[in-house]
Amino acid sequence: MPSVVVVSAPSGAGKTTVLSRVLERMPGLRFSVSHTTRDPRPGERDGVEYHFVDRSSFEELRAAGRLLEWAEVHGNLYGTAIAELARARAEGLDLLLDVDVQGAAQVREKLPDAVTVFVLPPSYEVLERRLRGRGQDDEPTIRRRLAAAGRELHAFVRYDYAIVNDDLDGCAGALESIVRAARCRVSHAAEEARAIERTFESAKEKEKA
Ligand code: ADP
Ligand code: 5GP
Repeated sequence: MPSVVVVSAPSGAGKTTVLSRVLERMPGLRFSVSHTTRDPRPGERDGVEYHFVDRSSFEELRAAGRLLEWAEVHGNLYGTAIAELARARAEGLDLLLDVDVQGAAQVREKLPDAVTVFVLPPSYEVLERRLRGRGQDDEPTIRRRLAAAGRELHAFVRYDYAIVNDDLDGCAGALESIVRAARCRVSHAAEEARAIERTFESAKEKEKA
C-alpha cells in the first residue's frame, strides 16, 4: 500500500511551488493527477497537471464510483480517481495529493492511514502580496481569494501537520520530512519489518539444527 500524503492550502499560499520542489527532489513520490472540469491555464498539459474533462464525463466517473473524493471548488468540479492509488501501488510509489479541505475530509474518512498537511501563508499581508505578485488574477478575484483564505484557514486544526510557507526551502524541507516519516509508519513499513523478523526466525532455526 503506498503512503498517501494529502496537502491543502488557501490559494496563493505557495502550495504548487512547494509541491513541485518536493516532487523534484524526492524519489519514489508521485503526484496524483486529478480530474477537473475547469479549463487548462496557459502551459498546463492534459494528463500532467490535471485530466481536463467536461462535466458529463466527470459525472460519469462519479456515478460509477470511480472517485476516491471530489468537490466543487470555485464553480468547477475536481476529483481524485481511485485509479491513481492503484497506479501508485503498481509502480511501488507513494502518492502526493493536492486537494481542497472538502477533499481532504473525504480522504481522511476513506483512508485513515493517509497523512494530511495544511500549508499556511505567513500572514494575510504576505498572502495578498503573493497573489498580486503572481500576476494571474484580477482585483475582484484577488479579493475573493483573500476572503476565502480567511474562511478556510481554520481548517488547519483537522490536519495532522501544519507548515508555514515562509522560506521556500524550509517549507519544502518540512514536507519532505513528513513524507519520510509517513514511510516509516508501521502501517507502511510492516512488510519490510516482518521480512527482517523472519531472518531472526531463520537464524534461530539454524542454531537449533
Ligand atoms: P498556490 O498553488 O498555493 O495557489 P503558488 O505556488 O502559485 O500558490 O504561489 C503563489 C505565488 O507565491 C507565486 O508567485 C510563487 O512564486 C510565490 N511563492 C510561493 N512560495 C513562496 C515563498 N516561500 N516565498 C516567496 N514567494 C513564494
Ligand atoms: P486550481 O484550479 O487552482 O488548480 O485548484 C483549485 C483548488 O482545487 C485547490 O484548492 C486545489 O487544492 C483543489 N483541487 C485540485 N485537485 C483536486 C481534487 O482532485 N480534489 C479536490 N477536492 N480538490 C482539488
